[in-house]
Amino acid sequence: MTPTDMPETQATDVAPLAITLGDIDALAWDKQRGLLPAIVQDATTHRVLMLGYMDRAALAITLDSGQVTFFSRSRGTLWRKGEQSGNTLQLVAIDTDCDADTLLVRAVPAGPTCHLGRTSCFAQAAGSMLADLDRLVATREAVRPAGSYTTRLFDGGVRRIAQKVGEEGVETALAGVVQDDAALLGEAADLTYHLLVLLRARGLGLADVERVLREREGAPCASES
Ligand SMILES: [Zn+2]
Repeated sequence: MTPTDMPETQATDVAPLAITLGDIDALAWDKQRGLLPAIVQDATTHRVLMLGYMDRAALAITLDSGQVTFFSRSRGTLWRKGEQSGNTLQLVAIDTDCDADTLLVRAVPAGPTCHLGRTSCFAQAAGSMLADLDRLVATREAVRPAGSYTTRLFDGGVRRIAQKVGEEGVETALAGVVQDDAALLGEAADLTYHLLVLLRARGLGLADVERVLREREGAPCASES
């Protein structure tokens, strides 16, 4: 395959930066007596979840098992996140910073990361509100709690949900022309929510839309064709 045949998306894919077992020896272990700080980020919402430390063994086990594992400085032992609480971190990828002395661990949390029951150990850590909503919609779809508006939508089927998206789309368009900013924002929020429900009813989610948007980056604008 020649460079001109390569899809443009390969340049924006983060995968080539991720480290593997073979990269462990190249990291700057000597700077902090065999430990590296590991910042954990939610791979979906991009929220910073916690900071832990890894030694070579913790990093190797994490990469090998796919379960994020740290070195506990207080106990002096390896510690698989969630081994007690069940709130594990499923590894997506690990990157290093520019001088290879800090790890960025992207993971999918099985539950609240903080032992205080919070999503993040940093109480005010910002993340994608849209991704939070998408995750909530996915949970509603799986659990179908009684009395939930979202449950009623899913029970009504794809056609009914699609009809709602159409209605909200028209209302958003009208608000954009004849109503004030607050009304437009309200309709846009309604439209976004119903769109996420429609995607989920078809087994899709925000990440799938993001992938399409990423693939379009640098590509000719599809809407102009
Ligand atoms: Zn915490």
